[in-house]
Amino acid sequence: MASPTNKRILIIEDEPDIVRGLKDALEFEGYRVLSSGKGAEGVQLARSDAPDCIVLDLMLPDGNGYDFCQQLRHQNALVPILMLTARSQESDKIRGLESGADDYVTKPFSVGELLARIRALFRRMSRLSEEAASERFRVGKVEVDAKTHTLLRRGQSLSLSFYEVELLKLLHERANQPVSRDEILDKIWGVDCNPTNRTVDNFIVKLRKKVEERPDKPKHILTVYGFGYKLVP
Ligand code: CA
Repeated sequence: MASPTNKRILIIEDEPDIVRGLKDALEFEGYRVLSSGKGAEGVQLARSDAPDCIVLDLMLPDGNGYDFCQQLRHQNALVPILMLTARSQESDKIRGLESGADDYVTKPFSVGELLARIRALFRRMSRLSEEAASERFRVGKVEVDAKTHTLLRRGQSLSLSFYEVELLKLLHERANQPVSRDEILDKIWGVDCNPTNRTVDNFIVKLRKKVEERPDKPKHILTVYGFGYKLVP
């Protein structure tokens, strides 16, 4: 089993058998494990040790998991939290998720299932951080922020339209590769809008005015004759 990179998991659970079983399985997979049998102490540990994932029991001797979950979430908006509970009713699941948990496992559970859920949470986290990173990128001397639909050029902020942002994002995802007009139309405008190849060309003209130093001699948004366009960041 490949090591999941020293990721640290905090288990907040008061049943020693469950803690022991989980700890063994997680350590076997390469995770480092911290644990606490009390909610308040667990919240404290989460603050001091900043684990990468938290497994939180719902019924703890010093309070209920929903409250601790809210405190954990308040402390750290991003850390994945997986709740453990003996209950299986829908309303408990909803309450768990509303208190900030990312996922929910009902006791009795198999360790294999829990590990799979933890791996899925980590996958989701890394996808989210990749997505966040891909929302900001540079093209030549300008910086594009796709989330706020703005482009920063020589300290000046210009706004981008929805289609301009989508077009830049697509070209940037495929940087240095030609992207055909047909593909651009298909992915950005879809079939329903009934756009034409001229639509793409018009947006390219607008983008060049914002991105290029000299729009008539583009260095970043290049035409690939008879095919489409290519972004050279
Ligand atoms: Ca318990």
